[in-house]
Amino acid sequence: MSYPNVLLLIDNVWREGRRNATRAVHNPANEEVIGTVALATTTDLDDAVACAASGFEVWRRTPAVERTRVMLGAAELLTQRAESIANLLTLEQGKPLAESRAEIAMSADIIRWAANEAPRIYGRIVPPRAAGVQQMVQKEPVGPVAAFTPWNFPIAQVARKVAPALASGCSLVLKAAEETPASAAELVRAFVDAGLPAGVLALVFGEPAEISEHLITHRAIRKITFTGSTPVGKQLAALAGMHMKRVTMELGGHAPVIVAADADVARAARTLADAKFRNAGQICLSPTRMMVAQTAFDEFMETFLARIREIRVGDGMLEGSTMGPLANKRRLDAMERLTHDALSRGASLATGGVRLGDSGNFFAPTVLTEPSKDSLVLNSEPFGPVATVWRFAELGEAIAEANRLDYGLSAYAFTRAIKTVSRLAAEVQAGTLWVNQAAAAWPELPFGGVKDSGYGYEGGPESLDAYLQAKTVAISDV
Ligand code: NAD
Repeated sequence: MSYPNVLLLIDNVWREGRRNATRAVHNPANEEVIGTVALATTTDLDDAVACAASGFEVWRRTPAVERTRVMLGAAELLTQRAESIANLLTLEQGKPLAESRAEIAMSADIIRWAANEAPRIYGRIVPPRAAGVQQMVQKEPVGPVAAFTPWNFPIAQVARKVAPALASGCSLVLKAAEETPASAAELVRAFVDAGLPAGVLALVFGEPAEISEHLITHRAIRKITFTGSTPVGKQLAALAGMHMKRVTMELGGHAPVIVAADADVARAARTLADAKFRNAGQICLSPTRMMVAQTAFDEFMETFLARIREIRVGDGMLEGSTMGPLANKRRLDAMERLTHDALSRGASLATGGVRLGDSGNFFAPTVLTEPSKDSLVLNSEPFGPVATVWRFAELGEAIAEANRLDYGLSAYAFTRAIKTVSRLAAEVQAGTLWVNQAAAAWPELPFGGVKDSGYGYEGGPESLDAYLQAKTVAISDV
């Protein structure tokens, strides 16, 4: 399987950056260089923004049904090309092929859903207070968007921004992740091949801080959307605030899980083992802080560990691997650091805790029990295959722990008691509470965070609202 040298897309032309600078792309399963990605200069960025500004004038005037048609075409191309794109995605990111295929199918689904929303961007008529007056509220696209996406879902995270922005009539300059550029480029290619007019979508790569500084402060950019870590998100939101730009921030999480004594404990344990180690744990909504009722703890651990023993860690390109390597060396180092710190503070190691093999970023699925509250793993997002589990005695205590951190993205509960569900729904501080199930962030559901996990939503009609502004037009006939 050959991996391309990934180029920038500006004005629907694929090209190198002005200085012909590139950066190597590595396969995380064996650390080999598999290709390169072109890096933009600030002049390239200025070109991209100028095109996005003229593309916006075209796209915002394009009838919604025509926007839908182009977007559905892109979803269709993505689906037709899924197998070859899945190979690129696994080569650059590491996840097993089955997960890459599922990510591409989900991305096509996101595009289709947003495409079909475009003709439903309704305004409203507001009854006037005087005769001869009409009051209308119309929705209009906010303007050219700067979008920043991470490496954990290199296609799906792009789809979650590009699809609602395009459906709303916005143009975009997209900076996708330099570590996983090829699959993002293939998604962009699907739009171009489906007939997206020049300038409506630009793709750039480069030095992230330089690009974000340049794009966010650029006068023509009207909206910023970022998915990534909380520290970077705070910096970008501050800069956007200084320049009065609209912002969506999808940041980190450290999802609490409450398994009540009345739950189907074995089912909860299997569901959580599958969910926790998907994408090697590199998911912002991954269940990470598992609290299990005292009386259910032994049954939970037995099933949880048995399920984890079925995980086959290996190169994602090999059929049979169910967990790939970590996407980069930083995560591997972080897993070692988090595990050693927790153990030094009194946690027990139920399984894993070690790097696997001498090459590639493989780390064993790891479970730490009864970690101390001050351990790193209970305070910063693990973003890797390390789970923590401990006992709780009383529901109030588990809710307090769920809300202890500044994160508030996803939370999980397993219980058969409607009273418990009602209490958790009212009291847990999170953007989404998943009850008796793994996360399923369908395109039709708004997904977003509270507190340090960010603001704004991706998914659902709210995802289009993020790219729209309301204009009131009041007309008197006198
Ligand atoms: P990082 O904070 O260095 O980078 C996170 C992302 O932001 C990357 O895609 C990076 O290219 C980008 N980035 C970094 N600095 C930037 C800047 N100044 N301007 C614009 N973009 C910038 O962390 P990392 O090591 O790549 O990832 C690890 C952490 O990132 C994780 O612990 C997790 O919290 C977070 N993360 C979250 C998500 C998510 O889905 N919310 C996805 C990926 C990473």
